[in-house]
Amino acid sequence: MIAPDLETAVYALRDLFEEAQAIVPFTGAGISTECGIPDFRSPGGFWTKNRPIQFDEFMASREARDLSWRRRFAMLDQFGAVQPGRGHRALASLYRAGKVPGLITQNIDNLHQDSGVDAADVVELHGNTTYALCLECGKRYELAWVREKFEAEGQHAPDCACGGFIKTGTISFGQAMPAAQMERAEQLTRSSDLFLSIGSSLVVWPAAGFPLMAKRNGARLVIINREPTEFDDIADLVLHHDIGDVLSPFIAH
Ligand SMILES: [Zn+2]
Repeated sequence: MIAPDLETAVYALRDLFEEAQAIVPFTGAGISTECGIPDFRSPGGFWTKNRPIQFDEFMASREARDLSWRRRFAMLDQFGAVQPGRGHRALASLYRAGKVPGLITQNIDNLHQDSGVDAADVVELHGNTTYALCLECGKRYELAWVREKFEAEGQHAPDCACGGFIKTGTISFGQAMPAAQMERAEQLTRSSDLFLSIGSSLVVWPAAGFPLMAKRNGARLVIINREPTEFDDIADLVLHHDIGDVLSPFIAH
């Protein structure tokens, strides 16, 4: 069923939330656009104007690593101060109410954690851009530290004390999906009786597989997205409304 208007949508959603025991949200870029973070993959978005640096290139070339960090710092100046939106806050409220065992996201912006969801309960399929990791030993570095070294070394990316390269905690183009995160995402999906796909166009695999998996496992499926997705037909409820408008009634104060 496609919700005809916002009021009906919220009403139907409230019923589903009340009946559900384990709600598993799956979020994409659409939940963060109201926070001022554009959808980098959309037409005219960042990745259509800047050639992505492939993982192999990052490993092989110092220039690529330097460029990658220069871009990251430019982003930090632009988006470093973003705050969670209404969608994030509503999901955090459901989480605090014990309705959400965990949450799966394609986003790398840390806004679910910022809204109060424990980092251990956020499964990040594409990693996290708000900190950095050594690709060899896994040591975590804060961006401020990397930037200070970067500037001090004449705009060159610093390496870890172990000699490994330091990269943001994101999964780059050409880099393998994190196996542990994929497994947890599958477990969560199978454990859900209500699967909420929010702000994802559901075209990128393996993301697109989760709603299907949930549905086949007997869960109810709700899709909240501005544009239609190819899974709208199998969803129990489809909302083509603004995510913040739809979810703000569920923010607990
Ligand atoms: Zn290291």
